[in-house]
Amino acid sequence: MRSVLVAGGAGFIGTHFTEYLLNKGFKVFSVDNFSTGKPENIKRFLGDPNYTFEEMDIVKGVPKGKFDFIVDLASPASPQKYLSLPVETMLVNSVGVLNLLNLAKENRSRFLLASTSEVYGDPEVHPQREDYWGHVNPIGPRSVYDEGKRFAEAITMAFYRYEKLDVRIARIFNTYGPYMDVGDGRIIPNFAYQALTGKPITIYGDGSQTRSFCYVSDMVEGLFLLMTLDGLEGEVVNLGNPDERTVKEVADLICEILNVPKNYEYLPLPQDDPKKRKPDITKAKKLLNWSPKVDFETGLRKTLEWYKEVLNVGKDV
Ligand code: NAD
Ligand code: UDP
Repeated sequence: MRSVLVAGGAGFIGTHFTEYLLNKGFKVFSVDNFSTGKPENIKRFLGDPNYTFEEMDIVKGVPKGKFDFIVDLASPASPQKYLSLPVETMLVNSVGVLNLLNLAKENRSRFLLASTSEVYGDPEVHPQREDYWGHVNPIGPRSVYDEGKRFAEAITMAFYRYEKLDVRIARIFNTYGPYMDVGDGRIIPNFAYQALTGKPITIYGDGSQTRSFCYVSDMVEGLFLLMTLDGLEGEVVNLGNPDERTVKEVADLICEILNVPKNYEYLPLPQDDPKKRKPDITKAKKLLNWSPKVDFETGLRKTLEWYKEVLNVGKDV
């Protein structure tokens, strides 16, 4: 039975990835320091003989053990969270990644890094391909995350080049779905919470900025393929759904699905908020034979159902 160390396993994507791996018959060893993840997320795995969890900060140490795969999902990911944890974010993406890479080197484990579309910054090329170097403000508030992830990518590639380690890098674009914490601060949980509790929906700027949203079941499938397929050493692959929407369209769609009034509050756009973002997934299609299957409205409906349960709101959507 093949084993996987999942760092950040109690977070949003970590929870889905763990479930996917267990269903596929892998042994999962999960670590998390609960800085943005939650103990509730992993409760349902605790009785599974193939699942082990250890509360651990990967900046301070890594578990003992030999793993076939090491997957690094550990990092605050929501702008609100990484702006409130600036130094922790830089450390987990530097020292934390180094600790995991050293562990991978010791046992010759295959290493998968969860990077981000934020390495492209506020892009001047659209859609974004993997060979675009990005447009990042290195001293702006978002740099703690953007430059942290750029460092994480660089050190991962250094282990590939100089230690001959089998590494892969996923550049994840905006992903959403159940288990994204309602207080996470990102657009889908914020809008869902606001629409379900009768609060005004907070649109930053004029709402014309775009993102392209990938449902989490598609994302974990892509991550799994990038982790398991042979012959992809050193590859960097965009994973995301190219279906691009403005922030205002997202608010409109959520209100329409929930059948609630479009009550919007316009707030200032955060500094360096990317104006547009959309993945070019040609490489993922070619290397992984992967493309997302869940359309935005279907994914949103499932996600809103989950937020209704969590918030105990009894409306049909
Ligand atoms: P999340 O905040 O829900 O999960 C991150 C997890 O990492 C949390 O459980 C947190 O407690 C844990 N963690 C943070 N620092 C740690 C440390 N020092 N030691 C151990 N655990 C630590 O975020 P997510 O959306 O699940 O993101 C997972 C990964 O995917 C992150 O690396 C993120 O940068 C990347 N990513 C996510 C998205 C997205 O849209 N969800 C987009 C781009 C990249
Ligand atoms: N956003 C918004 N209102 C919110 C939360 C987010 O208008 O309550 C906007 C934000 O300014 C950005 C987009 O939605 O343009 C996506 O933001 P999110 O925090 O989800 O992630 P990002 O893609 O910026 O990392």
